Formats: sequence, C-alpha cells, structure tokens
Amino acid sequence: MFDVLIRGGTIVDGTNRKRYVGDIGIVADRIEAIGTDIDQRAKQTIDASGLIVCPGFIDVHSHDDLAILHQPELPFKLLQGVTTTIVGNCGHSVAPMPQDSSVRAGLRQYMEPVLGHWAGAREPFGYPEITDFYDDIVRVDKSLNVGALVGHGPLRVRVMGFSDAPATVGEIEQMQRLLADAMEAGALGLSLGLMYVPGCYSAAQELKALAETVRAYDGIVTAHIRGEGDFLLPSIREMLEIARATGVSMHISHLKVVGRKNWGTIDEAIAMIREARNVGLDVACDAYPYAAGSTTLLSLLPPWVLQGGIQSALSRLADPELRHKAHEALEAQGSDWENVAVITGWDRVVLVSSPSRKEFEGLSVADVAGKLSCDEIEAYFRVIEASAGTGTIVIHHMDNRDVEQVLAYEHALVGSDGLPSEEGHPHPRLYGTFPRFISKWVRESQVLTLEEAVRKATSAPADRFKLGDRGRIQRGAVADITIFDYHRFEDEATYENPKQFACGLRYVMVSGKLVVRDGAIGPDHPGRFIRRLNHGGGRSGGCKSEVGRRGGGRSGDSVSCH
Ligand SMILES: [Zn+2]
Repeated sequence: MFDVLIRGGTIVDGTNRKRYVGDIGIVADRIEAIGTDIDQRAKQTIDASGLIVCPGFIDVHSHDDLAILHQPELPFKLLQGVTTTIVGNCGHSVAPMPQDSSVRAGLRQYMEPVLGHWAGAREPFGYPEITDFYDDIVRVDKSLNVGALVGHGPLRVRVMGFSDAPATVGEIEQMQRLLADAMEAGALGLSLGLMYVPGCYSAAQELKALAETVRAYDGIVTAHIRGEGDFLLPSIREMLEIARATGVSMHISHLKVVGRKNWGTIDEAIAMIREARNVGLDVACDAYPYAAGSTTLLSLLPPWVLQGGIQSALSRLADPELRHKAHEALEAQGSDWENVAVITGWDRVVLVSSPSRKEFEGLSVADVAGKLSCDEIEAYFRVIEASAGTGTIVIHHMDNRDVEQVLAYEHALVGSDGLPSEEGHPHPRLYGTFPRFISKWVRESQVLTLEEAVRKATSAPADRFKLGDRGRIQRGAVADITIFDYHRFEDEATYENPKQFACGLRYVMVSGKLVVRDGAIGPDHPGRFIRRLNHGGGRSGGCKSEVGRRGGGRSGDSVSCH
C-alpha cells in the first residue's frame, strides 16, 4: 500500500531522459515504485493525467536566510515549484556574527537590503555561532528544504571589522577556523560577494586559503565575482585561478554581462568556463532568466566611499569635498572599479525599495533627478541619504541574447537570486524564476527542451551542491516532486507588479508530503535542513544528512544519503 500514488502523469525525470507517461508510488518520504498502470492501493491518489510530473526545483541561488525563519512556508518559492532553496549566497549570511555590537549593526545595515527586513522579528543578526542559526532553521516548521552556504562577509568582518586592508596570515587563519566550524556544522560551502563590502577588499591569498578549507570538506565555493561588466573576463579568470590552485568546486553566481558596450562578451565568458572544464577544473555557473538585475542601493558607490561601513559612507557624503570626489568618481568612464551606473545609465537604475521615500519607489534615478531638479549622481546621493543607506534597486543592464546564451549553456543552473522582504517592490525573479525559465525558454522560444530545462533545475543542482538523493524521479529517491500544467505554467510577476504567483502549478510534494495542492499551500511542513555529514578530520566523504523537524516521525534524525 502506497501513501501516495501519482497516476498517469507525464514524467520528466530530471536526468534529461525523454518524457514518458507513468505512475509513481510513494511510501513515507521516498519514491517506492515507478511504472505503468500500477494497481496497488494507496491512501491518497493524485490524477496527474495531462500534467508534467518532475522533481522539485532546486533554487541554488537564494537569499532566503531570514525569510525561512519568518515566513517558513516561503510561498514565493513554493508556488514556483521550488522544493529546496540554498541560502547564504553572494557573501551574505547571518552567521557567524561579530561580537562587537556596533560592528554587528554595521554588518546588518549592509545585509538587510539583500536578506530582507522582517517586521516584528527577533534580532535576526544575533547569531554569534553558525550552529545557532542552523538550529533555528531546523527548529522552524518549514514547507521546503533548506541548504546553506556560509558568507565570506561575516567571516571577514568578524575577524577584521570593515578594514579594507589585505588580511594578514593570522587573520586568514582565523577566517579559516570559522569557515571550518561552518563546514563541520553542515554548510554546503562558502559564498563570495566580491562586488560588495567587505569581499571587495580581499586579495588572492585570502581567497585561495579559504577555498582550500572548502576543498578539504569537499564543499563548493559560489562567487558573486568582482565585476560583471568591464571587468567580467578578468573577474572570471580570478575565480578560475582559485579553482586551478586549490582544486575546489567553483561556481560563478548569476553569470551575466552588464552594460551595453560589453554585451556579447558572454561568448568569451562561457568559452573560458568550457576551457577550464576541459583541463579538469570543476567550474560551472547559475543564472536567472531576466535581463535586469537587482542589488543594494549602495553597491553603485565607489568602494572607497563604503570603507568602514554605512555610517562612514554617509559621513563621507556629508563632507562637501569627499562628496565632490565621489561625484567625480561616479562620472568617470575608465575607472579602476566596476562603475555599473556609468556603463548602464541612470535611467536604467530603478529604485524598488526606498523605505523612507516611498514616493521614489518605481522611479529611475534619472526620474528622481528630474523631480529634485538636480543631476543624476546628486539625486542618487540624496536617495542614499534619505534612506540612510538602505534600499534596493533593479538595474536593466543586460541583453536578452546574453541571458539566453547563459541559460542554454549546459553547465548553467538556475538560481533566482530573489531578494525577499515583507516590504517594497522586489525584482520579479523572487516570484517568477522557474515558471519563466520553462515558459519562455522552453515553450515559447524553444531554446531548451523541457527535459533539459528540468535537468538544469533538478538533478544538476542536486549533484553539484551534493544534496543527496534528490533531483530525480527514480526509485529510492526522496519524493520531492513538482506537478504542473505545461501549457499554462507561466510567471505572472512583472517589474511593475512583482508580487504575483505563477499560474499552472498544481501540486508540490516535499519528502512525500503534499505541500501544494491545486495551487494552494497545505498545512504540512515537511521541509528539512540539508547539511553535510562530517565524519571527522575535515575530510568527510561528501555524504549528507537531513535533519528532520518535529512531527512526521523524523524528529531530529539523521539520514545518510548514499
Ligand atoms: Zn550576487
């Protein structure tokens, strides 16, 4: 007797095998049988005829670190068919936090625009140790699975504050120890945010040493690289060099080309990754299916303005001489840092969350300049001041052809990079990434087959991030399953109206429990924290453990995967 029988669906199994019609029998959290016309009894039967049945999608690039604690059903992910979200990307994570409360407050200001502001939340940046944060993820009743990377930002700030100096040997060793603690606690790897403070201050020696630690645990390094426009190719080269020197799995986050004059360099970028793979380096990337990005308001400032934290940046802007210097730096074409605003154009930088000046939300910086009767850079400074440095932007800086090239590349996975928050006006990728990937690039433009697109969103990320028996419809695999109507599956979220759920999603199952039924979220919370299982010595064999939550008979247990 099965717990659930999914009958007559068109199975796209996640491995790129051609689709076929079949039944899937599930017992507890596992796929027990796959066949045609299974006539065994089941406690619950789902008629999936005419629907696509595939493994649940894995969002390899999320910033759901706090969202999962405060909105543990994560409706904006679950209702895309996502069953696993990987948090802690772009060098941002909420642990391990610095002891000093003012340094911690500074770090919080940097990370809140990315990780979201959650009203009424308990101190969300109060985790001195990574284990405290992971315990909270385990404890919360969540609908979907969570895996976590540890951010380079907190490691560096905990050891060095907001210093822009290169790390000393002693400081590097301290960071390595914190990183090893995180890996022991079950982190899947390390994320770099080299475009952001404090990652932008780090040099090769520091990054290589940290990569070596990750390598020792057989983890992954994900990288928001230093530059994605004028500096795209050297920034990729920098990561390939780390992979070459250390042998670490290197993953380029949200691979893209920023700024019109750079459009087309994506071919060269992909060629570099191909060549690296050809000589045996473990390098791949992810992307989101949109031609606009989203990031923090402050990230367009020259790095020297940001040195020391947001308060320091605000005091620099308050000093007329330094404000003038920053203005000049932002005007410069051939700057020695990635001047995203100048290569994109201020008319393409849109304020999406501007907490204290709501009237600016939805306007470009050029629009705001018109309203304030000043130039665009001055308008940008005034928005920063009005919002005390918080706030997020959407930047329309990519070319659709480049986006398509990346999505079509066989070693590119899908990651939403959604910035969750209760307030404001997020980039639509938060709600629409996976349905859009399928509807636009499979159904409409046929850049990918459905089988290949599903592989890139399921078994490929499960293998790359070593998530155990997930990402495939096969006997014995964990029953994380998404069922949708192929002809109707489509993102509804737009730049103007981003908080819209997709249509065409019918069922989502996590660990054998239906969490979405007929498009609505149900009462079960079977999500697990997926962590590395370490067998001592920092040299674990890459085996994973899943720590279950209360209820469902999986309380606090560990299940090794292979
Ligand atoms: Zn990023």
